[in-house]
Amino acid sequence: SIRDDIMRAMETIQNQIKCIKFKQRDPETRDYAFLTKKTGCWSFVGRQGGSQQVSLDSTCFAVGVIIHELIHVIGFWHEHSRSDRDEYIQILWENIIEDQKSNFQKFDIWDNNLLGETFDYDSIMMYGLYTFSKDGASQTMKAIQENVTILPVSSKVQLSDSDIRRIKKLYECDGMIRPPVPDVPPTKCDFELDYCHMSNQMDPGLALWKRIRGRMGSLKGDHTT
Ligand SMILES: [Zn+2]
Repeated sequence: SIRDDIMRAMETIQNQIKCIKFKQRDPETRDYAFLTKKTGCWSFVGRQGGSQQVSLDSTCFAVGVIIHELIHVIGFWHEHSRSDRDEYIQILWENIIEDQKSNFQKFDIWDNNLLGETFDYDSIMMYGLYTFSKDGASQTMKAIQENVTILPVSSKVQLSDSDIRRIKKLYECDGMIRPPVPDVPPTKCDFELDYCHMSNQMDPGLALWKRIRGRMGSLKGDHTT
């Protein structure tokens, strides 16, 4: 059952990283993940405050997929969104379902914290080659390096070695130190050339700026599959 898969996913993470513990919410817990059945498998990235939904429907019946969503909850974005991803993978935009293209965004270098880890094809946060394929048969990504195997998330059963190291660094487990995020260039947020991923919501009578994307490895984020 999906409940067994969820329990197994949490146990897998806890066994691999001793300083991460999932526990049932008690009445004093203000910020928590609310696992629910919406459409598809998705999560916000990092702590949002209050009750934050994680959708796991019947298509998410795979321990790897549930681990992937839980790793979004603890603050991680997709591996294929890293600022250096173009050296490792090519995105085949024409084969991606239109409204899923945001799942293949690339971060600017100052917008992600790579935590001292190189690109990892085996990361639980790395999609398979056919994820969100328009026709299910055309690849949405391909490896630039030769002889690389990229498995679908549903075929993975645990975190990769580098996933483990980066989670430990982000949470400073076992005395590890979180590496600082790269410096933001001086031209950032001039609102002429760079909007820092803010968008003007154009509420009637108000010009509200809202940040629509967070920093990889910090504890803010948005919605991702
Ligand atoms: Zn995801």
